Amino acid sequence: MSELAARLAARIEAEGPMRLDAWMAACNAHYYASHDPLGVAGDFITAPEVSQLFGEMIGGWIGDLWLRAGSPSPVRLVELGSGRGTLLRDAARLLGRVPGFSDACRLALVEGSPVLRAAQADLAAIWPTQWHERFEAVPDDAPLILVANEFFDALPVRQYLGDGQERAVGLAGGGFAAATLPAAEGPGQWSPEGEALAAAIAGRLALQGGAALIIDYGHDGGVAGDTLQALKRHAMVDPFSAPGDHDLSAHVDFARLAAAATGVAVHGPATQGQFLVRLGIEARAERVRRQHRPAEAAEVMAGLARLVMPGQMGALFKAMALTGGGWPEPAGFAAS
Ligand code: SAH
Repeated sequence: MSELAARLAARIEAEGPMRLDAWMAACNAHYYASHDPLGVAGDFITAPEVSQLFGEMIGGWIGDLWLRAGSPSPVRLVELGSGRGTLLRDAARLLGRVPGFSDACRLALVEGSPVLRAAQADLAAIWPTQWHERFEAVPDDAPLILVANEFFDALPVRQYLGDGQERAVGLAGGGFAAATLPAAEGPGQWSPEGEALAAAIAGRLALQGGAALIIDYGHDGGVAGDTLQALKRHAMVDPFSAPGDHDLSAHVDFARLAAAATGVAVHGPATQGQFLVRLGIEARAERVRRQHRPAEAAEVMAGLARLVMPGQMGALFKAMALTGGGWPEPAGFAAS
């Protein structure tokens, strides 16, 4: 039994079943602190790791919005959970061509994992960079442009099961197993931490100006059932086995995040496919394809398909933006 498993077992023995969100928080904190989970050799793969096109489109989105907002300087570019830093490295290629952006930009990375902070370290050569444990620590002295890709899905959820009971984790047969606790009624599945974060981001945007782009897998409301999943080496495993050894995530309820984000304008959600196509990903892919030899060119087009096709990441993943302080409408949300 790992040290974390022993600690959690002792806690449950002393206090009874643990609420699901407490379990998820403890497991994921350990998981991300000790692993680089991304890529083919890891446990799961994310859009920036699928194709350079993803980060490039986000770079274009940021540059366009910043220019239309009147090129405020300084501007704080914030990323929540940067993983290997791939999205921003790809975005920087486009942002380097936006006049004035490099001088204006200060980067704030909200990252809990020391392993992943090390993988992000080279971003400090592009823009002046600070790392923070929590969003609340990001300075409040300039407009923000915030990006969060596959961050909210890692935040702890609660699940109301009906009959005044909610999901918990207990001990059974020498291991951990699903259990229940009495609860106040809930809407099915929800993330108190995700909603509190959306509210905190909205508060800052209203005060400081700026925009936030949230991309994740999930739905525009009505995440009724259990979408908790555990991934190890690209396969589903039991979320109550081997705590801290696999990635725990759950579908994001965008309608609940939008409802929590008061005092700002909400754009979308659009599907990831719609969003990227409106930003011009197909033309960009064609340009990149032509610069490559046939084998690599085929890879570029396969990456495009994976990002935008409904059967792949194009429909389950959604993009939603928040804007505050009179910032303009961001690209990618209005049907043209
Ligand atoms: N955005 C990246 C990585 C996604 S994985 C990509 O798309 O590839 C989730 C990221 O969020 C990791 O960097 C992880 O360390 C970070 N993370 C997860 N939960 C966190 C928390 N509660 N506080 C800070 N960082 C967290």
